[in-house]
Order: sequence, then C-alpha cells, then structure tokens
Amino acid sequence: MPVRSLQLVLVNTPIGALGSGRGGGVELTLASLIQGLVRQNHRVTLVSAKGSTLPSGCTGATLVEVEGVDQPSWQHADPDAPVSIPRNGLLPALWEAALHHGTSADAVINCGYDWLPLWLTPWVQPRLFHLISMGDVAHVMREAIESVASSHPQRLAFHTHRQAADFQLPGTARVVGNGFDLSRYSLQPSCDGPLGWAGRIAPEKGLEDAARAAAALGESLLVWGLREDPAYAAAVEAMVPSGTIQWRGFQPTHALQQQLGSCRALINTPKWNEAYGNVVVEALACGVPVVAYDRGGPGELVISGETGWLVPPDDVQALVTALRHVDQIDRFQCRAWAERNATCEVFSARVDAWIRDGLEADVSIS
Ligand code: UDP
Repeated sequence: MPVRSLQLVLVNTPIGALGSGRGGGVELTLASLIQGLVRQNHRVTLVSAKGSTLPSGCTGATLVEVEGVDQPSWQHADPDAPVSIPRNGLLPALWEAALHHGTSADAVINCGYDWLPLWLTPWVQPRLFHLISMGDVAHVMREAIESVASSHPQRLAFHTHRQAADFQLPGTARVVGNGFDLSRYSLQPSCDGPLGWAGRIAPEKGLEDAARAAAALGESLLVWGLREDPAYAAAVEAMVPSGTIQWRGFQPTHALQQQLGSCRALINTPKWNEAYGNVVVEALACGVPVVAYDRGGPGELVISGETGWLVPPDDVQALVTALRHVDQIDRFQCRAWAERNATCEVFSARVDAWIRDGLEADVSIS
C-alpha cells in the first residue's frame, strides 16, 4: 500500500531569516530537512522571517514570510533568565502564522528553541512537534521541555542521546540525528594539509583549546565561522603565538567544504553539551578526520580510531597526542560514515517515522 504523504508546516527559529547565517546550525538542519521531506513527496510549508530564501533543492516547498523583531537567543542566557519577548516580536508572529497554516496540516514541526511553542502544545488543535536544538541552557526552558515530555512525550525529538540526557524524560528519547546534502561536500583524499577549526567564535565553542593544541605542535590553525564575540576572539588570539590563528571568516557551504576538505584534521573542542555538531559531520563528509572532546554530540558522532579520535574533555595535551595520530584514520571511512548516517534522506526518514508515530499515538489516546 502506498504511504500517504503528509502536509507539514515547519517553523524556523525566530533569530534571523533563513539564509542569513544568524540561525547557526539550525539553518542547515532546516534546509536539509525540507529537501529530504520534499523528496519524500510530503507537502511542506516553511514559516520563517521576511527575507528568507529556500535553498536550492527545496523547490516544491511553500514559503510563508513573517515580519517581526528577532527573539534573543537562549544560547547565552543566565540559567535563571525569564522568558522575554520583544515588542512586535517575530516569535509570536511566526506562531500566529504556524497555527493558522497548521489547522489544515497533519503536523507542525518547531525547529526553534523557544518557550512559547512548547507552552502552546497541549492547548491548540494543530499537532505541534518540537525538534530540540540545544541542551539545557536555562531553567525555564528545561521545565517547558520536560512539561511537554510528560504530557506529550511523542512530540519531542533530539539530535543526540547526549543532548537528550540533559532533560528528565519519561522514557527513551527520540533521537533523529541530523542530515546534510552530501552532493555539496567533496571527499578530498590528501591527508597532509593544515589543521582546521570551524564554528561560531564564542566561548562555549572552546576555540582557545584548539589554538593551544596547534601552537604546541608549532602549527597554525585555520578558523572559519561567525565572529559572534569579538572580545573573546581577540583574547584567544592573544593566548597563542602571533600567526597561530589564521582567520578565514564565515564562508558559504561550497567554499567552507572546499577549504575545510583540504585539512589534515578538524579540531572540535566544545565547552558545553553541544546538541549535535554540524561542523563535525561536514568535515567527515569531506573525508577530514575529527579530533574532538568526548563531550556532547561530537562525543557521540566521532568513532574514536575510525573517523577520528576522542579525548577527555578540556585535556589539551591529549588533543596534541591525538593530532599526532590522525594519519592512522582512513579518510574514505570518514566520508562513508556520513553517507550511512547523515544524509538528508536518512534524516528526513527518521523525522518522518517520528511524526507518524506521534500522530498514531494521538489517535490511540483519543
Ligand atoms: N558555518 C558556515 N560557514 C562557516 C562556519 C560555519 O556555514 O564559515 C556553519 C556550519 O556549516 C554549521 C554552522 O555554521 O552548519 C554551525 O553549526 P554547529 O552545529 O557546528 O554549531 P552552532 O552554531 O549551531 O552552535
């Protein structure tokens, strides 16, 4: 029997338009998800800030643009911070449109990390599902996630088990990983290039440890990413010999993968419980081994000895030792892992199964 296609409303984060880069890893996740769902013949509507662009491969999806003032991110919030929504906020505007379009849809998938859609879940007719994109960063958000987990556990999904472990859940977490359009990443077999690091330049990403490891090896470190915290960037640069850090700026995916793909290794040194770690998988997709702290998503994604090396968190000397052994990693194995575990197709199939199970659970409850 053919499987019924679903009508799905996806809601972007209320931080920036899709394509602006301001939504961080969520932007790439959302683009891959739309691409995968459209290929599975689902009817997809994206609700997103005005100025958003649907990436190539997403034709077939409908874009609903909404105006409003960006929501502050929870990323750097104080643990006791209250929920605050600016005047003319984008967040309520997105959810007004999402609920409107969601009335005739099978499900609404929330890709932002915000209190409002979580709180709305038991009170509205559209079926709201939440792809949680961060671990525990503030009490009020943890409580909102745990409240949905207790009333509608089937409506939550996480990127990794390590991320989900931040929350008290009634059962096993639904883990859907993440997905990438691997046709945009080329395997580069040469393994004698420089060391690389990629991510937002912000303290929770731990650039200083990667820079110290590169300095200990007497090498430079190529760094790509949005300079979110310029004071932090300057402080890290001052910690290591001049010239160690080679700033490469924020590059679009095609340039990033080309430059990153020439690296001998990507160093990934999160100081927080990273929910997933897009750049880890993007490096693997180019055949680049990853030397990472055994913490958060990267600690779950990297297979130590096969696609890179995992070392104890915050241990710079262990990073240095592992970097001396990256030549033992087969770059073809790195690419093969990404092809098996992190394509748009694999990811959207997991999301599809999550939504269908959630809809079925609703039917059996009612
Ligand atoms: N990124 C990019 N260009 C750059 C550096 C990073 O497009 O020069 C993207 C990268 O592809 C990834 C995102 O920025 O999708 C960072 O996501 P990640 O999950 O690593 O961290 P987040 O910023 O979401 O905490």
